[in-house]
Amino acid sequence: MTISALYPGSFDPLTNGHIDIITRAAAFADRLVVAIGAHHEKKAFLPAEARKTLIEDEISNIAGHIEVMIFDSLVVDAARGAGADLLIRGLRNGADFDYEMQMAGMNGALAPEVETVFLAASPGINYISSSLVRQISSMGGDISPFVPARIAAAILKG
Ligand code: ADP
Repeated sequence: MTISALYPGSFDPLTNGHIDIITRAAAFADRLVVAIGAHHEKKAFLPAEARKTLIEDEISNIAGHIEVMIFDSLVVDAARGAGADLLIRGLRNGADFDYEMQMAGMNGALAPEVETVFLAASPGINYISSSLVRQISSMGGDISPFVPARIAAAILKG
C-alpha cells in the first residue's frame, strides 16, 4: 500500500513548525502534497503564489516526494483532487486539539475515506505560529528564530 498525504494550511508564512511537520510526514508518506489554502486572499500577509515559491525552495532540502499546490476549495475536495488518502495536521496545544478535533470530525463526515492524522508538535518549536510571526514582523521584530532564513529574508525585503 502506498500512502499519499495532503498537508493543508495557510502557511502565511511557512514557519519552522511547518517545516518540522513536512519533514516528518514526508518520512512516512510515499507522496506528500503541501496544500496552501487561498480562501482569504485579501487578508493574506504573503500572496499564495509567493508562499508556494518559498515553500518549493524550502522543500528542495527535505527528503521525500513532496509537491506544493494552492487550493480554494474544501480541504476534503483538495484531498480527493490530489488523490490523497490522509490529511496531516499538527497539534501544538489544547486550543489546536479542540479546533482540530472538530475539523477532523467535519472532514470525516464529508469524506469518510480521507483519514486525518495528527502529528504532535516537536518540543522547542511548539510555540511557533504564523499569526505571531506576522504580528512580530509588522511591529519590526526579528522573526529569524521562527522561520527559515530565506523566508525571513523575503519578508524583510517586502
Ligand atoms: P491553518 O490556518 O489551516 O491553521 P496554519 O498554516 O496556521 O494553517 O497551520 C497549518 C497546520 O500546521 C495546522 O495543523 C497547525 O496546527 C500546524 N502547525 C502550525 N504551526 C506548528 C508548529 N509550530 N508545530 C507543529 N504544527 C504546527
